[in-house]
Amino acid sequence: MVGYFEDVRSRPVLAQVEPGSIRRSLPASAPERGEPLDALLDDFERLVLPGITHWNHPRFFAYFGISSSALGILAELLIATLNVNGMLWRTSPAATEVEEVATDWLRQAIGLPAGFSGVINDTASTSTLYALTAAREAIPGLNVREQGVDGRRLRYYTSAEAHSSVEKAGLVLGTGQAGCVRIATDAEFRMRPDELESAIASDRAAGLIPFAVVPTVGTTSTTSIDPVPQIAEIARREGLWLHVDAAYGGAAAVLPSHRQVLAGCEQADSIVVNPHKWLFTPIDCSVLFCRREDVLRRAFSIVPDYLSNPEGESVRNLMDFGTSLGRRFRGLKLWFVLRAFGLERARAVLAGHLEMAQRLREWVAADPDYEVLAPVPFSTVVFRH
Ligand SMILES: *Cc1c(COP(=O)(O)O)cnc(C)c1O
Repeated sequence: MVGYFEDVRSRPVLAQVEPGSIRRSLPASAPERGEPLDALLDDFERLVLPGITHWNHPRFFAYFGISSSALGILAELLIATLNVNGMLWRTSPAATEVEEVATDWLRQAIGLPAGFSGVINDTASTSTLYALTAAREAIPGLNVREQGVDGRRLRYYTSAEAHSSVEKAGLVLGTGQAGCVRIATDAEFRMRPDELESAIASDRAAGLIPFAVVPTVGTTSTTSIDPVPQIAEIARREGLWLHVDAAYGGAAAVLPSHRQVLAGCEQADSIVVNPHKWLFTPIDCSVLFCRREDVLRRAFSIVPDYLSNPEGESVRNLMDFGTSLGRRFRGLKLWFVLRAFGLERARAVLAGHLEMAQRLREWVAADPDYEVLAPVPFSTVVFRH
């Protein structure tokens, strides 16, 4: 691991392999007899590393990945060493409570009010699916938990620029893709509140059931920021669950200068922020903050005898907030990273990223052969020749 980081700079960022070549270079079946570590490490170097796209490379700039940090990697080693399953508080009290502390530190660091509680999921796709499941559970009179649902009349709203995970949730929720209504955006790629209002109105007129709206803070293609305060007002008036996808952009709110990117989010029912995107935490670590945890729990909690626990309501059992029972001790790496960096250094590093993006934007804007195509609120610059 140390050696890798010492020479990662000398490697090409992109894997240099053809489809199937790695698979063909490996035996088709597991060995009958165990092999020595040396042989494994040799093959790791010889066969696996050439097939790696180096996300921890200093010149890796794709997919918002800046991920890792030394202490995050060390925490992963400790997580694997302990090998705990934090499904219940009592199956490892520290796994639950460190996750509670670390996510609450993050909540404060990005300026969300008390009342939001965090759970860590693998990805933002999962966090958004769970949030929308809670939103569906909250629909009055449907009784989805007990009776299931024919989702064909349900509608939720997101912008034309929203991440595919928002639409994908509909494949699981029973709404289908038709249930995920894409709202048009303005010239700066932000959801248009007037279009949202008229879509809700015409859906209601057609006898459909609007139940949630998902604005994005930092969209995937241009990192645009939807007008959450206005959308929150519409959601409140219409009785819709407000879930904010801040998987990437939320981290910027650690900076006082960027606090306003989460304006309006204090009114959200749920928000997702991915520390594995922009807060130095190794994949996977996606925090779902929820202000109506009772609804999230109602959507997911089933407690058979073998998982019953005498602590009752005095503890949170993290199995209650999603579909998976078992869960890794992910809170440890977030806790390590936040402590090792400290908010001061985290802010300095993020400010550096933002500053680099502004410099690139200026260079591009100054060159007559190039055109900047979108505002640059974060660390992504969209341009063309
Ligand atoms: C990256 C991203 C996602 C998906 O993240 P995963 O954790 O890979 O599921 C969703 N929404 C936004 C805005 C993103 O940037």
